[in-house]
Amino acid sequence: MAKISINLSEGTVKKEAKKDIIVGIDLGTTNSLVAYMQDGQVIAVTGEDGKNTLVPSIVHFATGEQIIVGDAAKQFLLTDPGNTIYSVKRLMGKSYQDIAKAGQYLGYEIIDEDTESLVKIRVRDRFYSPVELSAKILAELKTRIEKTLKEDISKAVITVPAYFNDAQRQATRDAGKLAGLDVLRIVNEPTAASLAYGIGLSPDESKTIAVYDLGGGTFDISILQIQGGIFEVLSTNGDTFLGGDDLDRVIIDYWLSRHKIKTALLTENKELSQAFRIAAEEAKKTLSTENQYAGRVGEWTLGIDKSQFETLIQPLIDKTLNSCKNALADAKLSIDNIDSVIMVGGSTRVPLVKKAVSDFFNQPVNNSLNPDEVVALGAAIQADILAGNNKDLLLIDITPLSLGIETMGGLMDTIIPRNTKVPAKAGRQYTTSVDGQKNLQVAVYQGERDLVSDNRKLGEFILRGIPPMPAGIPKIDIQFILDADGILTVRAKEMRSGVEQSIQMKSAYGISEEDMARMLLDSIKNAEADMKIRALLEARNEANNIVLSADKFLKQNAAILSEEETTRTLELVNVLRESVKGDDKDVINLAMKDLNTYTEPLAHRAMDVNIGAAIKGKKL
Ligand code: AMP
Repeated sequence: MAKISINLSEGTVKKEAKKDIIVGIDLGTTNSLVAYMQDGQVIAVTGEDGKNTLVPSIVHFATGEQIIVGDAAKQFLLTDPGNTIYSVKRLMGKSYQDIAKAGQYLGYEIIDEDTESLVKIRVRDRFYSPVELSAKILAELKTRIEKTLKEDISKAVITVPAYFNDAQRQATRDAGKLAGLDVLRIVNEPTAASLAYGIGLSPDESKTIAVYDLGGGTFDISILQIQGGIFEVLSTNGDTFLGGDDLDRVIIDYWLSRHKIKTALLTENKELSQAFRIAAEEAKKTLSTENQYAGRVGEWTLGIDKSQFETLIQPLIDKTLNSCKNALADAKLSIDNIDSVIMVGGSTRVPLVKKAVSDFFNQPVNNSLNPDEVVALGAAIQADILAGNNKDLLLIDITPLSLGIETMGGLMDTIIPRNTKVPAKAGRQYTTSVDGQKNLQVAVYQGERDLVSDNRKLGEFILRGIPPMPAGIPKIDIQFILDADGILTVRAKEMRSGVEQSIQMKSAYGISEEDMARMLLDSIKNAEADMKIRALLEARNEANNIVLSADKFLKQNAAILSEEETTRTLELVNVLRESVKGDDKDVINLAMKDLNTYTEPLAHRAMDVNIGAAIKGKKL
C-alpha cells in the first residue's frame, strides 16, 4: 500500500515519503500533553525549559488578536479572568441546558440561552465554541512537537474519557481537524493508560483491570476487560466535580477555621484567595513526601501535618471508593476479578489515595509511570500501532448511554441500550399514525429516561415521500449504526416504496488513496472556514427562532407589558432581524443576547402570572 504524506504548509500531497510520525495527545481538563514513539521508546514532549511536559489547558485572549495558550495564559486567570478560558473540556459537545448548573462555577461568560444549541463562550464581542478553544490547545501542542522534531505533524490519536458521548467525541475530532490534525482515532483514556503499562499489547493476554483516575478537577473509575488484544469498557463511574482542587479546598477551610478567618474575606479579596489556594496546593504536594508543612500567607503562619490532612480528605477518598464499588457492580464483578489496578492523574500521588485504593482492591497498584503523563504515553503507543510499527490491536468500547428515537407522546424508544459493545447495529420497524401521512420525523435521543424531554437530543430528520397509505400500513425500518469511534448513523427506510433517508454520510468507497488524501487535506485546510459558515448558519437559525418566539410572546402577553416594554422589545427584535441579514455571527449573537437579557424578566413575570410561557429557547 502506498504511503501518502501531506505537507500542510505547502498544501501538497507527496507519495513515497518517509513514514509519518503519529502523535498521541491527552487533551485534559486541567492540563494537556503530547507524546510520540521513537525507536521503541515513548517520549512526552517538553516545552522550551526542557522539563515541563504539561501544557495547562488554558486559553487567554489578550487585547488585539493575540491568543496565548498554556503556562503563559495561566497567570491571567487572576488578572483577567473574563478573557481567560479554562476547563473547556467540560463544555465539549454540550448544550446550554446541559451546563445550566456548571456554568456558574466558571470565571468566564457562557451565553445563557436555555436551548438545545451547543454552548458558546463570550470573549469581549466575539463568541467561541468549545471546539474552537480546544483547537487552540491542540494547535499549541502541535507547534510544540513540530519544534522538537523539526518536521510537520499532521496525524494524531486523541484521548477522551470513557464516558464521553457521541457528541463529545465528535467535538474532540472536530477540534483536532480545526487544529490541522487528522485524528486517526479517538481512544478512551483508561485504555491508553493500560497500554502505557504494556497491558493489552499481547494478543494472548486476558485480563480485567481497574483504572482509577483522580486529576485536578475530575474523578473517573473504569473497569476494562482485555482479551485477545481487544479492549472493552465494562463500566465507568465517577464524579465530574471531584479532584485535587477539592483536596486543596479542605486545607484552606481547615486554615480558615483554625485562624478564625471569615470566608467572606477571601471572597472579597481575590488575590488573598489565590495566595491561600497556592499555599494549600503546595502543602498538599509537600505532604505527599513529608510529614509536615509550614508556610506563610500575609499575616498568617499556616501549618498542617500529614495525619490532619489525611483525616480531612478521608471523606473525599471514600466517595471515590464508593464509585469504585458502583463500577464493579455495574460490570457485575467483584474485587477478586480485578487483575490489575492502574493509577492515573496527579492526585494519585497522595499516599493515602494510593493506600486506600490498594486496600480497596486488595492488591498493590500500578503507579510506576508519571500519573500525569501515562494517558498521553499510551496514546502514543496506540498511534505507533496505527502507524503500522506494531501489530494492530483492535480497540473496542461500549456506548455509555442508550440511543433511541422519539415515539408517540414524546416517549423514548431505545434502539441501542447503554453498555452495548461498539461497533453495533440495531433496528426496528415503525409505521404511520395518520391516514395518507407523507412525512415521518425521526428525532434521535440519548439517555436513560422514559420521556425524551428528559434526555439529550442528538439530531433529527424527516423521511419524506412516503406514498399515501392508510395509517399503520407503511413499514418504516429505522437502523442505528454505531462505529468503533462511537459515531452514529441513523437510516430510515419505507420498505414498501423504498424511500430512504439518513443523517450521516458514509465515507465514499472506490476512490483512490490520492483522492482521499486530497479530500482530507481540503477538509483540514477548510476546517476553519467551514466552521465559520456553520456557526453563522446556526446563529441565523437560532435568531430566526427567537424572533418568532418573541413575536408570539408579545402577542400573547400584550396585556401584562407596558408600552415601553413592548416598544423596547420590538426595537431589539428589529435589531436581531436586521443582524440576520448580515454575515457576522457575533453581531447576531450579541443581538440575541441583548434581546434575551431584556426579555428574561418580562418572561418571568409572564410565567408568574401564569399567562404566557418563557420566551427563551423552544419553551414557547
Ligand atoms: P492532572 O489533572 O492529572 O494533571 O492532576 C493535577 C492535580 O494533581 C492537581 O490537583 C495537583 O495539585 C495534583 N498533584 C500534582 N502533584 C501532586 C503531588 N505531588 N501530590 C499531590 N497532588 C499532586
